[in-house]
Amino acid sequence: MDTADFKQLLLALAEKNGCEAYFRDGRVDVFCRLTERMLKINESFNLTAIKAPEGIALLHYIDSLKGADVFAEGARVIDIGCGAGFPSLPLAICRPDLEIVAVDSTAKRVRYVAETAELLGLSNLKVITARAEELGRRKEYREAFDFVTARAVASLPVLCELCLPLVKVGGVFAAMKGKGARDEVFSAKNAIQALGGRLTESLETPLYDLSGEKYEHATVLIHKERATPNLYPRVYAKIANAPL
Ligand code: SAM
Repeated sequence: MDTADFKQLLLALAEKNGCEAYFRDGRVDVFCRLTERMLKINESFNLTAIKAPEGIALLHYIDSLKGADVFAEGARVIDIGCGAGFPSLPLAICRPDLEIVAVDSTAKRVRYVAETAELLGLSNLKVITARAEELGRRKEYREAFDFVTARAVASLPVLCELCLPLVKVGGVFAAMKGKGARDEVFSAKNAIQALGGRLTESLETPLYDLSGEKYEHATVLIHKERATPNLYPRVYAKIANAPL
């Protein structure tokens, strides 16, 4: 990868998508180091199917940051199903004020994210290997976060049962969704209500590549109004096979 070209590309995409403010103070250099490391590790362990620099910059980095303004200053945020660290790594780089916990059920991915955070000096990011539905039943995590977020993990009704139990009453579940967000929101109405949430809004936050092509992206905001009943989250087979 040519570092100078990548920096230029990332800045051009950030400007095109109105999020250039996130890339000041040498953060572009941190993204270069992240990209080099991800591509290197990806040679031996499948972290990302997107390997072209423009794809990584737009569909991983800008995509992870597109809805990042919704997180309140200094908030405690948990990223469920972080995989190779999206959105948690870009958020930790660009929002040093946030206290972020990244969770995935796959130990190898979590180890990669932990080592990457350490290499990049991201002291605001901690990681846990766990299943979300198990964390949601543990006292120290249940209703303990100002914000829960997730990208590309499951359909919204399933995701609500994984994520809403972790949101504090008064907090927000911010789901990052692509195409079809409107239909997903419609099908999750019952789950949102049953788990103590209220759909506030679905923010259309599309992405644009350098040629102007548009990619659908929405940040679905669900506020936690009431405590989640103790019955939830159920075991994963029930969550997936009989969504609320
Ligand atoms: N969020 C990342 C992204 O946007 O690139 C990763 C998406 S990847 C398609 C989905 C990830 O969710 C996988 O790494 C998987 O291990 C994790 N996952 C799925 N169900 C989970 C659960 N119940 N608890 C924790 N992690 C889960």
